[in-house]
Amino acid sequence: MLDLNKTEPQFFIDYKSNDKNYKKNPNNYLKCGFAIKQKLRQSILEEQKGQCFYCEKKIENDTEKIHIDHIKQRACFHNLECEYKNMVVSCNGNGGNHCGKYKDNQEKWDDTKFIKLIPENSQLSEKPSAFFKYVGNGKIKPKKKLTDDKKERAENTIKYLNLNFPDLVNARKIILYQIDIYKQQGFNIKTILALYREFESVFK
Ligand SMILES: [Zn+2]
Repeated sequence: MLDLNKTEPQFFIDYKSNDKNYKKNPNNYLKCGFAIKQKLRQSILEEQKGQCFYCEKKIENDTEKIHIDHIKQRACFHNLECEYKNMVVSCNGNGGNHCGKYKDNQEKWDDTKFIKLIPENSQLSEKPSAFFKYVGNGKIKPKKKLTDDKKERAENTIKYLNLNFPDLVNARKIILYQIDIYKQQGFNIKTILALYREFESVFK
């Protein structure tokens, strides 16, 4: 999972403060027009360097294959519907088998069970990179030395998003294997990542 590293784009700030329809229906994502959603998707996708926020697979800007995902679900967290920081781009998870759609078919995001990505007090937000590591067999696991609470929430989050879905595990395993070969040939890790442009956390 990527770290949330977001800066709200000016067009969205302007839209929320100036658009008459939006002002009539604030915090209503469905009322945002198609053009705004399209610009949002593009902006977020660029922030994520063309990767799914959750599984980090390379994704294209194709509405059939990706969607804007509200980390904290719109149906349960109305005040976060139009919060830019709550929006990421997710793959569709091979028919909903992992990532945003898989998550949304379960319970709502609960900060006591999962990583605190969008906590009420933003100062308490946590970085996925502090929680997860990738091991040689391609699996994502909680980092060692986490407190029991953090370890449990890391494990819950992996299950909640199904980040050890077999296709993802295999893809990471192959990349880890290939990274080793490139390294032996003297390539540095940045150069190798630039070749793949996906699964960036696996490279760290
Ligand atoms: Zn994904």
